[in-house]
Amino acid sequence: MTFDDGPHPKHTDRVLKTLSDRQINATFFIIGENALAFPEIVYRIAAAGHRIGNHSYSHHDLTKLSAKEIESQIMKTEKLIALYLGKEKLLRPPYGAHNSLVEKVSKELGYQLYFWNVDTLDWKESHRPDGWVSHGLAQFNGRDNTIVLNHDIHESTADHLDLFISEILALGPTRFEIVAGG
Ligand SMILES: [Zn+2]
Repeated sequence: MTFDDGPHPKHTDRVLKTLSDRQINATFFIIGENALAFPEIVYRIAAAGHRIGNHSYSHHDLTKLSAKEIESQIMKTEKLIALYLGKEKLLRPPYGAHNSLVEKVSKELGYQLYFWNVDTLDWKESHRPDGWVSHGLAQFNGRDNTIVLNHDIHESTADHLDLFISEILALGPTRFEIVAGG
């Protein structure tokens, strides 16, 4: 389970509460601007045992930027969350957008790119309030290993995360893990 784009001043703590109640650890890909605004929430995410990764500074499509700009997007965020990144630093490029330059720069900065294979589209108006749950669940079909993309900045995600977890558990024996390494 992964959560992108936070931290958010209201909804991230609600997501943390649900994960804590369910004793699930997840990985949070943090936007630097939000880490700057809400450092105490980043601390709480890490203190709860979740993994933290880099999601750029201002959520630009990195494939549209120069090498210097890509580096700046990554490093400005790294300065804010360095304490929590661990030894194996993870980068999830915004929108999953990457090309050879993004790959080269992130590798030089010691990052591993990390994507997903289940996209709940919880950010989409048409998937609210809880349509994202079934949209995500349908993608589990027959898969043994899934990396699920959610966003902890949406009220509807916080509202229905517990339901989503219930539905996942109803599919069969499930182990929730944070991204390995770190
Ligand atoms: Zn994002």
